[in-house]
Amino acid sequence: MDLGNICGLVRKTQASIVENRFLGKRIDDDGVRITMESALTARDRVGVQDFVLLENHTSEAAFIENLRKRFKENLIYTYIGSVLVSVNPYKDLEIYTKNHMERYRGINFYEVSPHIYAVSDNSYRSMRTERRDQCILISGESGAGKTEASKKILQYYAVTCPASDQVETVKDRLLQSNPVLEAFGNAKTLRNDNSSRFGKYMDIQFDFKGAPVGGHILNYLLEKSRVVHQNHGERNFHIFYQLIEGGEEDLLRRLGLERNPQQYQYLVKGNCPKVSSINDRSDWKVVRKALSVIGFSEDEVEELLNIIASVLHLGNIQYGGEDSGNAYITTDTQIKYLARLLGVDGLVLKEALTHKKIIAKGEELKSPLNLEQASSARDALSKAVYGRTFTWLVNKINVSLAYKDETYKNASVIGLLDIYGFEVFQHNSFEQFCINYCNEKLQQLFIELTLKSEQDEYEAEGITWEPVQYFNNKIICDLVEEKFKGIISILDEECLRPGDASDITFLEKLENTVGGHAHLTTHKLTDGKTRKVMGREEFRLLHYAGEVNYNVNGVLASSRPPCSSTSLARCSLFLLSLCLCLQAATQFKTSLAKLMEILMSKEPSYVRCIKPNDAKQAGRFDEVLIRHQVKYLGLMENLRVRRAGFAYRRHYETFLQRYKSLCPETWPSWQGKLADGVSTLVKHLGYKPEEYKLGRSKIFIRFPKTLFATEDALET
Ligand code: ATP
Ligand code: MG
Repeated sequence: MDLGNICGLVRKTQASIVENRFLGKRIDDDGVRITMESALTARDRVGVQDFVLLENHTSEAAFIENLRKRFKENLIYTYIGSVLVSVNPYKDLEIYTKNHMERYRGINFYEVSPHIYAVSDNSYRSMRTERRDQCILISGESGAGKTEASKKILQYYAVTCPASDQVETVKDRLLQSNPVLEAFGNAKTLRNDNSSRFGKYMDIQFDFKGAPVGGHILNYLLEKSRVVHQNHGERNFHIFYQLIEGGEEDLLRRLGLERNPQQYQYLVKGNCPKVSSINDRSDWKVVRKALSVIGFSEDEVEELLNIIASVLHLGNIQYGGEDSGNAYITTDTQIKYLARLLGVDGLVLKEALTHKKIIAKGEELKSPLNLEQASSARDALSKAVYGRTFTWLVNKINVSLAYKDETYKNASVIGLLDIYGFEVFQHNSFEQFCINYCNEKLQQLFIELTLKSEQDEYEAEGITWEPVQYFNNKIICDLVEEKFKGIISILDEECLRPGDASDITFLEKLENTVGGHAHLTTHKLTDGKTRKVMGREEFRLLHYAGEVNYNVNGVLASSRPPCSSTSLARCSLFLLSLCLCLQAATQFKTSLAKLMEILMSKEPSYVRCIKPNDAKQAGRFDEVLIRHQVKYLGLMENLRVRRAGFAYRRHYETFLQRYKSLCPETWPSWQGKLADGVSTLVKHLGYKPEEYKLGRSKIFIRFPKTLFATEDALET
């Protein structure tokens, strides 16, 4: 074999290795599988690993086809530039081993197949080298894999970051906060056996050596209604079943509980005590251990369980009396347990559960409740108790994760946001309104930051910026949150207005104040065409992701939970849920605004999760469902923004390293300036001037086909 042949073989092998990585083909655990399969065939089979390389980038069909090809090959990750798109495989893939973690450590983002570890590593390195705080925003609908993704990121840092004795404790605590929060904040729903019923933002703090040294959690909108009611096929929060199934005999005796979830009114509503994918008994052990790792004392655990048991006892309180008459409690055993567990006087408790306080002419009066009102009072108390316990739990975890050492004051931070995606149901209430508003804000942040970072990059590289046409959803955010005439302001006003405030007056006010808005419709405002699909008690918002009708009349509108303020007592349930159950809307708006501020101050990375089917099954790719999500996640728009300028960009060094074999002047190495080397190389390859631009440190290539031709040249 002569030298020329050897060079050719080396070149081909090298090209295949890189191609293998580039196209995101499966890489064996023990290293890179070398294949002589042509680049073109491979691309046909496994698709492109970055959507910006799609020939037909405006075609949703092509986008979905690429996802499908990759999903079939177990390639669940694909990029849109630096955004990671992930499809839930619903099966365990061998891609999260320690070897995989090592493979992604310190490696160039684009030189290996897309992975959640690549995103984790990239954020970590940016934080270290640029000293800039990072955040990773994970979004997607229920069951799409957000929480799993956030756990993978945390595990990646726990394994790959430098360690010391103290750090080990922090790493353990960070990891163990998950089972605890999941026990109290997750539940089995129709869409996900382990659905997070709260939004979570977690900061991981790193010291100057890059070791994790602390953390902090912010939680949003726990779905408290689940404590007292579950839809058919759904469950209450995991902790109840874990305690009943796994709790030791004497513990249950102390708490007055029986080992049978069917005994408890709050656990029977969904008729779903057991879930095949969940082992409550072993989960109980995991949670107990996690609580002690986090630093809960035995007394604190006992206290916590007292409250959990109290909620179950509260649910079993029954009332006698008639709808019109005064309600009285018929279940004294529960009161006895409650009095003991909560440390309150039985009589006081009884009275609190059968009377409401009203303030008339400055005086506080007690007024008896009827049957329905009393049940609502009981449920309201259960929700409030559970909600506060959850907040207490998060605070406690935060104390345990807090940075102890003064010298660590200016730690660097990576934030993880695992928050509910856009929701549209048959019946959408205030909960969906808040969730979708939150998504609207995140989309705005995404647009601003993506466009801004594109713009910044072009500026930094000295390349002319070409404006992109995109829908700016600021108009919808304003409609919701504007002072005085935004929907939240109007709700607040109605909530606090003495007099005849009701859901209908709220709707009327909406019509009068923002009736002409292009993104809002009510029954009265719609024309003949759409009126039939809108209820009288609904308003419709045209979100960036689509239309949603919100019902202002809560499911239990007829029964108003009693409350101490006269103005609140008159509110409809929608307003009440707003004022009482879910924190006031303004409070939510404020906490969202704070979150946005936190996120804005950091460099973001995005993980967009997609759920492949509703059956939670491996291997099933439901195209209709996926198309919806591609739309809601704004992925086509994201791609359009990314593609509007240049589809592909690489540092000169990386580009040269990869393609230098294609030009005699750059092979085997280029001695001069990198930019000159790249210029020589692309001229030799016949790139036309309109196809590329040379920036300060990177080459920008406009069309994927240019790059593909170069890729293919590597093979010939
Ligand atoms: P929710 O909004 O309801 O909390 P989610 O987006 O957080 O949903 P996850 O709980 O992360 O969804 O995922 C749902 C289930 O899908 C997991 O319990 C797991 O069975 C499976 N799953 C998700 N991601 C992966 C993955 N990368 N590999 C294997 N299975 C996964
Ligand atoms: Mg989740």
